[in-house]
Order: sequence, then C-alpha cells, then structure tokens
Amino acid sequence: HSEHISCAGCGVRLQTEAKDKLGYVPSQALNRSPVICQRCFRIKNYNEASGITLNHDDFLKLLHQVGQTKSLVVNIVDIFDFEGSLISGLPRFAGDNPVVLCVNKIDLLPKVTNFNKIVNWVQRQAKEFGLKAVEVVLCSAKQNIGFERVLQVLDAYRNGRDIYVVGATNVGKSTLINRLIRDYSDLEAELTTSQYPGTTLDIVKIPLDDGSFIIDTPGIVYHHRLTELVSKRDLSKLMPDRPVKPLVFQLNERQTVFFGSLVRFDFVQGERQSFTFYVSNAITAHRTKLERADELYEEHKGELLSPPSREDLELLPKWTKHPMRIPKGKQYDVSISGLGWVKVNSVAGADLMIHAPKGVKIAVRESLI
Ligand code: GDP
Repeated sequence: HSEHISCAGCGVRLQTEAKDKLGYVPSQALNRSPVICQRCFRIKNYNEASGITLNHDDFLKLLHQVGQTKSLVVNIVDIFDFEGSLISGLPRFAGDNPVVLCVNKIDLLPKVTNFNKIVNWVQRQAKEFGLKAVEVVLCSAKQNIGFERVLQVLDAYRNGRDIYVVGATNVGKSTLINRLIRDYSDLEAELTTSQYPGTTLDIVKIPLDDGSFIIDTPGIVYHHRLTELVSKRDLSKLMPDRPVKPLVFQLNERQTVFFGSLVRFDFVQGERQSFTFYVSNAITAHRTKLERADELYEEHKGELLSPPSREDLELLPKWTKHPMRIPKGKQYDVSISGLGWVKVNSVAGADLMIHAPKGVKIAVRESLI
C-alpha cells in the first residue's frame, strides 16, 4: 500500500490487517466518511469507555489479591444473563472469604414469578458452577426491591471486615453501590481511593461507620455477552427496563424466529410445540419458514430485521451456528448471553440451531421459570 489514510478521530495511520494493533479498521468501514479507527469508533459509539474495566487475566489477579485479605465478597450477577455474568475463577480466587451472591435485576422477571423458586434455581446453578455462596439474595438495585435483605445479609456475614463488590460490566454494580452508599455508609466521611499494588487502578473505597470499607472493584468485560458487542444504541434495546412480556410461539419443525439481525433461532426437528422467548420487548421477532430464512436475512438484514442497523451490523462479529439438542423428559431453557433465553415448553425434546455473533455464549440449562 503506497497511500496512507489517517483516522479522522485520533490521527493514527489506519490499517486493516491486525485487529489488536493501533489504527485497525475493518476494511468494509474504509468507505465510511469520515474514516475512524475501530478504537475511536468504540469510544464514540460503544459502552467500552464507561467506567473502569479489566480483562479476564487482570481481573483474576485482582481477585487473587482480594483472596489474600480477610473480607466479605459480594458478587453481583444479572438474572437476565445469569450464565454470562458469572465470574469464572471466582470460587478458586476468593480464597476462604465468604461469597454472597447478589442476583440483580429481578424487576425484569414477569410479575407472576415465584421468587423462592428462583432462589433455589440460583443455588443449584451456582453449585453446578462450583461456587459456594453463603447466601443468595435477589434484588433490584434500580427499583429498590429486596434491599433490606441485602443489608441484613451483609451485616450477618461481615463481622467488621471490608466488603469487596465484584461483578461483570452492566450487571448494575454502580447502581447497587450507590444504593449501598445511601443506605449503609457514613455519609459524612469522604470517599477515598487507593491503588491495587502493581496496577495503576484507582479503587473507590466507601467508608462504613465502623472503620471498614465497601470496596468497588473494576467491572470485568466478558466478550461472550451480546451486550458487550453491540453499540450503545442497541444496548439500550437489548437490556429491558421493565418486566419482560414473554413471547410464546407455537412452532412446527423447520420454522425460524429472528430477533432483529442479532440472533436467529431455528426449530430444526421435533414435534409441534411451544417456545417462550424471554427477550427485551424492544427487539422485534420475525417468524418465517426455515427454507426462507437465509433469503429473508440477505434481503432484510439491518432494515426490517433490526436492530442492529446496517452500519452497526458490519461491526458485529459474523454469526456462528450452534446446534443444540434439547433432551427429553424435562423443561429446559436455551440461554443466549445478553439477549435472554428461550424456554422449550414441551418435554418431547427438540433439535435447534442458534445463529449468534461469534463468541456469544449459548447454553442449555434447567428452566428458570
Ligand atoms: P455496572 O456496569 O455493573 O456498574 O452497571 P450499571 O449500574 O451502570 O447498570 C448497567 C445498566 O443496568 C444500566 O442501564 C442500569 O440502569 C441497569 N440496571 C442496574 N440495576 C438494574 C436493576 O435492578 N434492574 C434493571 N432493570 N436494570 C438495572
């Protein structure tokens, strides 16, 4: 290449070869005007620049340090993306410290939900994951549901120790901490910051009235969550802000449901049965025949099938296909990290194919609801 193009944002020389090097821009995006590098694009349009975040390795280092303190660890997970927001390695790295599993965003579950059942489900799932939580609490940091119980549990297990709050990005950690500050801390005292050894990270320490602290840790970014891959605009559609109205489809085999151009769900084989989709109601579902699905996608991606828009679709990883066999005999969900989940209502079994942006975590689990 003899001519060089510079990023209109930061001035770096653009290149299309090395994704993880400075100045990278996907070649399709070179036609855009002005042309900016992927990094500038992300800072401008994506949620990556919000708050301090860490990658997995650095996060584990941090957890390891937490493990060497005597503290109470509060792990916040998102009920709308349970598998996706669990922190792998937490059981190993928390050391001997008790872990409270704080399950946030329960306001998103349908109104009729039996919450005792949810707690039991979370306990079973956490155990399967290898996490021994001393307590599971459900809450909504945003709607202020379940907070009395959260405070009770923290008091019961704290014994004068510091509280480390850990979580993936977008699980509601900031919202919850702000609530803790309001309800719990010595408001007269100043917030302080300290640094983790060997890093340049400033950590916020919130003083409690007994001289210990609530310590906010950076969020860990998980690229297996669709919510971390989409633009800011689409993020607000993906994350519901009110109880989800489940969407029920009676499907014959060889039928397909699209969720915008984000995810495609194929019912490949099995008896006619109903599927319940727990997906943000801001995302429109389109149903078609499997035979027509490829054609429909090519014709309508980024338009009728949106979000994302055509432009944002270019920045989303291409779909990969996940064949999923739903066993007979029990009710299962297929969870699609960051989008939601599909409940397979029949116990007759089914063969599914999920198409989702590369990297997005898909899992079969015992039904939540
Ligand atoms: P953080 O990245 O973990 O610090 O998460 P934030 O506190 O910034 O919250 C991420 C998003 O989730 C924001 O859009 C919040 O409004 C939303 N959120 C936080 N807590 C709740 C909750 O309890 N219910 C719902 N529905 N949304 C929440």
